[in-house]
Amino acid sequence: MMIIMHPGAPKEQIDAVIAEIEKQNLSSHPIFGVEQTIIGAVGDGHYVPKEIFEALPGVMEVQRISKPYKLASRQFHEHDSIFQLDGFHIGGTEIPIIAGPCSVESREQILEIAHAVKEAGANALRGGVFKPRTSPYSFQGLGEEGLEYMAEAREQTGLPIVTEVMAVSQIKMMEKYVDVFQLGARNMQNFNLLRALGETRIPVLFKRGMSATVEEMLMASEYILSGGNTRVILCERGIRTFETSTRNTTDINAIPVLKELTHLPVIIDPSHSTGDSKYVSNIAKAGVAAGADGVIVEVHQDPAHAVSDGKQSLTPEAFAKMVKQVKAVAEAVDRRLVSQHVTA
Ligand code: PEP
Ligand code: MN
Repeated sequence: MMIIMHPGAPKEQIDAVIAEIEKQNLSSHPIFGVEQTIIGAVGDGHYVPKEIFEALPGVMEVQRISKPYKLASRQFHEHDSIFQLDGFHIGGTEIPIIAGPCSVESREQILEIAHAVKEAGANALRGGVFKPRTSPYSFQGLGEEGLEYMAEAREQTGLPIVTEVMAVSQIKMMEKYVDVFQLGARNMQNFNLLRALGETRIPVLFKRGMSATVEEMLMASEYILSGGNTRVILCERGIRTFETSTRNTTDINAIPVLKELTHLPVIIDPSHSTGDSKYVSNIAKAGVAAGADGVIVEVHQDPAHAVSDGKQSLTPEAFAKMVKQVKAVAEAVDRRLVSQHVTA
């Protein structure tokens, strides 16, 4: 439920509400506005009568959140959440572009591609060092060595780094390198991993599970939010359908649907959603036209020889062209690309 305090309610009254929430075995999630504080109380609170809170001094109103997800809902947080990342915001007017290879393959490869994507307009660098491969015999990633190369790429380009975490045991080691944890589609319902990411204070780029509904996606994100990590960026990366002409089916509808249901930023991954570089730029544009707050895309200097996802990887030249077109679409829908990196 949401406990809405009277404008200007003093700290002692807010603290008393928080103490009562904890006494009821719920967790408290205050949002301190300029004038008014709203305190979310979540947990198995169905049977806690709201009168308990209504009776406390300074409480203006208590509302139950009707959706099964609470902290992710627009009922809890009406306005779009805007997160400050290194060098840009996500969730506001500006649309950041995250680009880089599927996998970090070598020091030379990641440094070269990092400079290339930056030059073409990227705001953050992606690259996997722990790879969730369908076959255990496929390349599994460089692990910590790859993170060292990513960190060097960040140092040289200033681009913050986004990389996938696959296991709870990797979090601590990875924290010293990453700017944004990527939660992969295959782990969207790995509840232990979600809870552990909720304990960190590093933003999470949260990929939709390949057969997850929008509601399941929001419920899963709640595991992270309820741990106190508020910076979750949702990503539509395609779902599995009966259609086999593309690797996945981009659920374009999910973008406006999510934007209606949640205040969290929503981005599009046209690389995994199509699986084919021929379609990536069009679907990136479609995502932005549909209201996406950002784009994450795979770019490789030599897609034909990439160790993973080469077929869907753009060359730096194709990426630069995509950025120009996404910029035009963004402007058509009253958005813009992040200003400092845009090449006109
Ligand atoms: C990736 O980003 O390389 C990846 C494995 O993505 P997903 O989890 O969406 O398949
Ligand atoms: Mn990939």
